[in-house]
Amino acid sequence: MSISRRRPFALIALVWAGCGGEGGEARPPSVDSDLDQLEFAGRFEPGSIIGAPRIVDCTLSEGAATSCVAVTLPANPGTFDMGPWCPTNVADGADRGGIWPEGGQIYDVDGSFIENLSTFYNDPSWQMYDPATGAVNVTDTPEACAAAARPDVDPRYTNFCVQCLAAYIEEGLTNTYFIPIEPVAASRVAPRVGHEGAGIAYSGVRLDAPAPTDDILGAHTLAPFDDCGGHVNPNVGYHIHAVTDCLREGPATNTHAAELGVALDGYPLYAPLNLDGSTPQALDECRGHTTAAEGYHYHLGAAGSNEILGCHLGQTGCVLTDPDASCDANLGSRPGGGPPRRGPPPERPPRGG
Ligand SMILES: [Zn+2]
Ligand SMILES: [Zn+2]
Repeated sequence: MSISRRRPFALIALVWAGCGGEGGEARPPSVDSDLDQLEFAGRFEPGSIIGAPRIVDCTLSEGAATSCVAVTLPANPGTFDMGPWCPTNVADGADRGGIWPEGGQIYDVDGSFIENLSTFYNDPSWQMYDPATGAVNVTDTPEACAAAARPDVDPRYTNFCVQCLAAYIEEGLTNTYFIPIEPVAASRVAPRVGHEGAGIAYSGVRLDAPAPTDDILGAHTLAPFDDCGGHVNPNVGYHIHAVTDCLREGPATNTHAAELGVALDGYPLYAPLNLDGSTPQALDECRGHTTAAEGYHYHLGAAGSNEILGCHLGQTGCVLTDPDASCDANLGSRPGGGPPRRGPPPERPPRGG
């Protein structure tokens, strides 16, 4: 596969080209890249990032020592009106619930959807509401959310609609994304996106790995996304599993899809469809392709796919809860390096920082 050299942070890279050689020893004076960091910051929804993006040394997932842009996002982004997720009664309409992906489609989680789960999944064990009152079983405390929103769902919450509210997110929790300025090819492309997620959207939110729907459904629970495709895990915060129509759109060329964010390996992320509604052609296994204007880039998966990104073609950076930590995404791969330290996985407690 040939990959163009187009870089998502091309302006920054241009500044650097005059400052250092191939060895990566020479570092540009930070003042030189201020303008480019401003340009990068300007792609984000105003107020959606904390502080200014920084350029830092980093070690990528296969050990490449390079430079990353570090951007810190709040786990509780004020730029999204979160929810609703779970309807409270089977009489509720679609405006009282979120969405759920199944078989490539998105379904409204309204009262009828809850009422019909046993038919929908052809499994009589589904009974998520009180037949007498129509009240839906909904996790309604931080403790219930924590016990139900983990891969090994607490059996007490079988047949619950699981939602965690933004108020459950630890105050001040942030995630810092360390993204290579210039993508570095991975020698072994992992078959899927890791726990640290696909990347970030310019709306200031994490675009996550697939939701663990097998675990969720296996426990006879639902963990609906809101209409923006996101939900809350108290350890990670608000994160997106399905790209709907809520994300801030960057510039687009001609009819090509709009740029929505950047992947954790540094390649740009574009909308699922082109502006004229057509499907991008000749996508590889990661959902990427190369076009003249955009270079190599990914297209995000359709909302119902539960797969925002197929895989990362490049070595990935880090997601860390400590903004001042240094990024070594290869730490766990070296002898004596200890466990992988690649930041908080989406549905499990964070280890970052
Ligand atoms: Zn999730
Ligand atoms: Zn494209």
